[in-house]
Amino acid sequence: MQKTLFSKLWNQHEVLKQGSGMSLLYIDRIFLHERTGSVSLKELELKGRKIKNPEQVFCTMDHIVDTLPGRDDNTIMPSGRDFIVSTRDAANKAGINLFDIGNDKQGIVHVISAEQGITLPGLTQVCPDSHTCTLGALGALAWGIGSSEGEHALATKTLSVKRPKLMRVRFEGKLNQGVTSKDMILYLIGKYSASGGVGHAIEFSGDTINALEQESRFTLCNMAVEFGCFTGLIAPDQKTFDFVYDRPFAPKERDFENALVFWKKLYSDDDAVYDKEIFVKSNDINPQVSWGTSPGHVIDINGFIPNPDEISDLSLRSSCLKAIDYMDLKPGQRMDSISIDAAFIGSCTNSRISDLRDVAKLVKGRKVSSGIKAIIVPGSTQIKHQSESEGLDIIFKEAGFEWRESGCSMCFYVGGESFKNGSRVVSSTNRNFENRQGPGIKTHLASPITVAASAIKGKITDVRKI
Ligand code: SF4
Repeated sequence: MQKTLFSKLWNQHEVLKQGSGMSLLYIDRIFLHERTGSVSLKELELKGRKIKNPEQVFCTMDHIVDTLPGRDDNTIMPSGRDFIVSTRDAANKAGINLFDIGNDKQGIVHVISAEQGITLPGLTQVCPDSHTCTLGALGALAWGIGSSEGEHALATKTLSVKRPKLMRVRFEGKLNQGVTSKDMILYLIGKYSASGGVGHAIEFSGDTINALEQESRFTLCNMAVEFGCFTGLIAPDQKTFDFVYDRPFAPKERDFENALVFWKKLYSDDDAVYDKEIFVKSNDINPQVSWGTSPGHVIDINGFIPNPDEISDLSLRSSCLKAIDYMDLKPGQRMDSISIDAAFIGSCTNSRISDLRDVAKLVKGRKVSSGIKAIIVPGSTQIKHQSESEGLDIIFKEAGFEWRESGCSMCFYVGGESFKNGSRVVSSTNRNFENRQGPGIKTHLASPITVAASAIKGKITDVRKI
């Protein structure tokens, strides 16, 4: 029988079939962060259990830690300090790899896991954060878990998992100017809804995917979970192998060559069968922006806010009404006429060096519109250093952006970083739920270049027009 990439990964890690579609899987890497890390580690200690292979367990400070220059253990949300200190103590006691504040490997968990060569093609990896699926872009089977599952994985290096169905999404054709992998995934979710992938693992393929650079592939897989999927995957290719080569935790020399022989077998066979298939003509995609409070509430930059009266399904109509009300918009309003209060570029979706280089090209010699609060937060300390060595920080600051330390920052209102209550923010993040970025914040998801163009114009803007 022909095999998919997903089934190859699953079968290679299956320790035991447990019945009713459940399997016990071997877990290669576990990543923790300060929001839940101390809870799992302390619970384990209380139960008298030891971590199996602590050298394969990693922890970073990203979710709660401040991103303001000169930061320390104190956070805007006063309770944040306890999370940071107790995670540090527990991680040091457990002897796992910790990327603490001040460590040059610190950064957002899914960004540094790839950057440091911790995630490799063919591995399984879990982390208590939904966007662990980002790492599927390296051909790894990676997914988000809860903290009790985290304890189980830490103690046993295994997890009991229900095997999902498999979906293939093929993107074919050349992308239009101003269209990025963020627009591709927003388009997919906008067209097929935020529940379009429920119960499935998703494999992205097609010549558009092959043409994407590795960093853009992370953005695509990052939002697989916003499509309702268990995870997202892309078969590794030469771009992936080049990306992994010589990373600090990646195999070196002879070990790398041996690994390469295995990695090159990680693809879906030509006539492999999927439970569901979607085909997307990439040329149909324009820059996308979300209008509502679900990542499925997405339209073209040149589109109009939907009219609930034209929606026949009662539950969809009611959610549309609720979203329009929260977002303080009007049915029929043009997306590119909406004024903003703030712009945010960052998160595990779009904070990599290629994102920042694209933004710098666009904002160089331009100014953020008066009254707009515009912030750029690099995804890792190394990306920050790289940006500064290329002078990108100077370009950002001269244009009127704040330039921060690395962390999750305003992706998620958990460390207390936010904008003025009720602000309308165009954001390169992945979730636009009510209050996700802070009390009353109205989030419009978009690509980093659409965010930058909007910051310059003071309203949601088609990047192709500037
Ligand atoms: S940037 Fe946002 S989505 Fe990504 S890991 Fe941090 S909180 Fe989670």
